Amino acid sequence: MRVLVVEDDERIASGLAAHLGRQGHAVDHAATLAAGWAALRGEPFDLVLLDLGLPDGDGGTLLARLRAAPAESLPDPHTPVLVMTARDEVASRIAALDLGADDYVTKPFDPDELAARMRALRRRAAGRSQALLRHGDLVLDPAARTALRAGEPVALSSREFAVLQALLEARPRVLSRQQIEAALYNWDSALDSNAIEVHVHHLRKKLGEGVIRTLRGVGYFVPDADGG
Ligand code: CA
Repeated sequence: MRVLVVEDDERIASGLAAHLGRQGHAVDHAATLAAGWAALRGEPFDLVLLDLGLPDGDGGTLLARLRAAPAESLPDPHTPVLVMTARDEVASRIAALDLGADDYVTKPFDPDELAARMRALRRRAAGRSQALLRHGDLVLDPAARTALRAGEPVALSSREFAVLQALLEARPRVLSRQQIEAALYNWDSALDSNAIEVHVHHLRKKLGEGVIRTLRGVGYFVPDADGG
C-alpha cells in the first residue's frame, strides 16, 4: 500500500521506510507538518503514519485539518491515520483518537506489530473483516504475502502481488493504470509507461486469462466471482 510517514526523527523515518519497503509498501516521507499537509493535498495515500511532536506544530493539527477538509479538496479525505506516540503521551493519544485517528502505536514499537495494525486498517478501509482475499479458487494472504491457486502456491513478484491485491480489494470496480501506479510507487521512482501492462501480462500468464479483465481505454478490473 502507499504510505505517508510524517516524522521529524530522521532515524525513525528511514528505519520505517526501509522496513515498510521490504514488505512491498511504497513509502513517502514528510519531516514537517507543512510538508505532510502538502503531500496529502497532492497525492492519494492508503495510510498515514503520523508523529505528534513535529518541529512546526502538533501532528494533531494535521489530523484535524485532514478530517475537517471538504471531501472534494483532497485526493483521499478518508485516508486512515495511525498515530505514533511516546508511551507517556496518554492525553495526546486520546486527543488524536478523538480528532479522527484510526489507531496508534507507542514508541518504541515492534515493526511486526505495526505491520499487523496496518493490515487491519487496510482491511477496515476496504470494508472487510477477513484477513484473506478470496476470488474463486484464488486465495491471497496479505500478511504472509503468498498466493494460492486451487491450493497450489503461485510465485508472484512483490509488485505483481501488489497489483493483484489492489485489483482484488477494488473489485468489481475498474482501476485506471494511474490508480494502480499510485498504489505501487513513490513519487521519485522512475516508471516505465507500460510497467502496469507488463505486470498484468505476467499475472495473466500465472493465473490464467479470466481473473484480470481489461476495460479498453479505462483500466483493469476483477469481476465479482459470481460473474456479475
Ligand atoms: Ca517528533
